[in-house]
Amino acid sequence: MVIIKHEGGKIISGASMKDVPNILWLEEIRKEDIISVGGKGASLGEMASIGLPVPKAFVVTAQAFRRFLIETGLEKKIFASYEQLDVENNEALEKAAEGAKTMVLTAKMPVFIRDEIRKAYHKISPDDMIVAVRSSATAEDLPDASFAGQQETYLNIKGEAALLEAVQKCWASLYGARAIYYRAKQGFDDHTVNIAVVVQQLVHSEKAGVMFTSHPITGEPLTIIEGSWGLGEAVVSGSVSPDKYIFDQRSEKVDDILISNKKVEIIADGDHGTKLVEVTGPRQDAQVLSSAEITKLAMYGKIAENHYGIPQDVEWGIVKGTIYILQSRPITTIGNKKEAKEMSSQKQSTNAKILLQGQGAAPGIASGRVAIIREVKDTGSVKEGDILVTKMTNPDMVPAMRKVAAIVTDEGGMTCHAAIVSRELGTPAVVGTKTATHVLKTGQLVTVDGEKGIIYEGEIPHAASTPATVVQQAGAGASKIITATAVKVNVSIPEAAQRAAATGADGVGLLRIEHLILGLNKTPGWFITNNREEDFVRELHDGIKIVLDAFPGKPVWVRTLDAPTDEFRNMMGGENEPHEHNPMLGWRGIRRDLQSPDQFRLQVEAFKRLWKGGYDNLGIMFPMVSHPDEFVAAKAMMKACGVDVENATLGIMIEIPSSAIMVEDFIKSGIKFASFGTNDLVQYTLAIDRNNENVADMYQPQHPAVLHLIHNAIQMCRAYNVECSICGQAGSDPKMASWLVEHGISSISANIDAIAKIREAVARTEKRIILEAARTRDAE
Ligand code: PEP
Ligand code: MG
Repeated sequence: MVIIKHEGGKIISGASMKDVPNILWLEEIRKEDIISVGGKGASLGEMASIGLPVPKAFVVTAQAFRRFLIETGLEKKIFASYEQLDVENNEALEKAAEGAKTMVLTAKMPVFIRDEIRKAYHKISPDDMIVAVRSSATAEDLPDASFAGQQETYLNIKGEAALLEAVQKCWASLYGARAIYYRAKQGFDDHTVNIAVVVQQLVHSEKAGVMFTSHPITGEPLTIIEGSWGLGEAVVSGSVSPDKYIFDQRSEKVDDILISNKKVEIIADGDHGTKLVEVTGPRQDAQVLSSAEITKLAMYGKIAENHYGIPQDVEWGIVKGTIYILQSRPITTIGNKKEAKEMSSQKQSTNAKILLQGQGAAPGIASGRVAIIREVKDTGSVKEGDILVTKMTNPDMVPAMRKVAAIVTDEGGMTCHAAIVSRELGTPAVVGTKTATHVLKTGQLVTVDGEKGIIYEGEIPHAASTPATVVQQAGAGASKIITATAVKVNVSIPEAAQRAAATGADGVGLLRIEHLILGLNKTPGWFITNNREEDFVRELHDGIKIVLDAFPGKPVWVRTLDAPTDEFRNMMGGENEPHEHNPMLGWRGIRRDLQSPDQFRLQVEAFKRLWKGGYDNLGIMFPMVSHPDEFVAAKAMMKACGVDVENATLGIMIEIPSSAIMVEDFIKSGIKFASFGTNDLVQYTLAIDRNNENVADMYQPQHPAVLHLIHNAIQMCRAYNVECSICGQAGSDPKMASWLVEHGISSISANIDAIAKIREAVARTEKRIILEAARTRDAE
């Protein structure tokens, strides 16, 4: 339980209050002003200063917000209204948030602030110009502003009254339930949190989109531009499949153009807000950008990249032939932030002191200072580039996991939460060290080798071997090696979708949706009991869609929810989860969904919308099935929800020995595919807890009993011509992949970092089989 109670919180006062005006113009802002203008404001100012065509804008500073609080007497009142709040008590949280928001919304804005905003608005243009009003988080160290609900944006605002209302709404967004909850969990002092508001000329883009100024995975000098009709929100939110253009900076030529079928666009809705409308006629398939526009955009991208010193992710819009740059921020996937910590190519010290050993769960080497996290709320103190050390990660920690250089845990094996998420984030990780939280000290400088599973004392020079390099190799190999056995990729967090697609994988063999749901910080049950079903469906739909969009025309198998009850515990609604002695053997997977029809129905609703949206490549996989009756029941429930089950691609995970043994019965019950979940199949066959470091060395995916089950199931699938795959961690081991190909598996789904080596192992094995067959034939 987290009670909000801070004592003696600092309030911006003194010099900063006196010196910073209520309004700052873009031209006067630099990145150092982030504390006054927030991240968005600072970035816009910086762009304008280097001559990029940024739409006119001003910022209502954080100090203006603070003065508003002081003048209206809200400064103390607001905080006092929820000081004793137990944020785990959802009802109380919602009520407190509502109360605080209402106070901000109904307070009369002091005349001097109102006048300054009005004056600034008319200075932009004497007429009532249409503007976008966006909140701009000023807490630089807020791990993820979007989590904190500080991303309120009001588009298409016209006139003084509407503008003042939108500014006040942005201020109020600081007190949303999600924002309060998140700050409390992260240990932020609510007394001091401020918010700035950016007011910017709204560019009524006729076409808009995003641009990576260099290849987002490999860092090659290729500018990648995605664009579609209307406002950029359609591309950013993933509502549309945009055109894709590749500009090669070496030859200064447009290298590739991929035109998509653009079904929708977002446009201004009269004088207020926006709306999603259908794109009709030839515009659907028309090329959005001309070569000249692509070239000019790439040039602006290069200017931004040169200025910031690192590749940028840029939002742009074009109206009547004029290009506007709307936003620019660093791409974090290239070489990852960890690269900054990595030394130039020097030979690795062999006599460095080894502090600890565990299992190398995510490749890469990184150095940094230890940050020991004992409770989720401590993650607020984790800084960019730290080494996160904890007993075991859980979904609440993902925002912190995103910014650290490496992760080390006491517990867990290769298939635990920390291992799965680290691999996808491309963050080196060592799990199952047993004693890291005791042996390592906060602030200590260490080097983590995520391949070998070793933690060294101090900062050790080493050859750069970033996860991005690994993916680069995977991507580079993608076009060269063609395998008959499909090599697919596993995805758990949508933000990894682009990295996964860059490997050139033949599809997604497993999309774990529980990570997507766990990231929402509320259990499915919470959404249901709080009448927020639509939010749940939308989040699920949008997350899956990001992955589907990254794999056009390739199969994507999405697995229905499979989170053990203990993983739900820390979330809102988690208090209602049953306490189980053995969550791994408990109420998870399809067995839970079959007993929780509402939870299942909401997932099916998201799938239905995706199918309806034309994503025919979506297949659904049921986890933890132990008897064909469960498959039949799940199928019947889907049918009752209106799914054309006979034509949908529905399959199962084989992760309980019973399902491996009964695979023929499953085939007869109508499965279209089966995929080995060896992470569980091994633990249930050998009675070895996959998360228990004490028995980790007895956890053997290649145990004869496991191989026996797999072999028999593959043969049965082959006999009935049913696709048979693997998506457990064992599929990322080249030796195992080779064995599986020899035994006739149809596809292998591996981790992002393993695709290159798996593809090579598969190709070699296939060639060997062909060669041996030819030799045998010749000898006869
Ligand atoms: C498995 O069990 O092998 C699997 C892929 O599922 P999870 O790791 O999510 O249990
Ligand atoms: Mg499993």
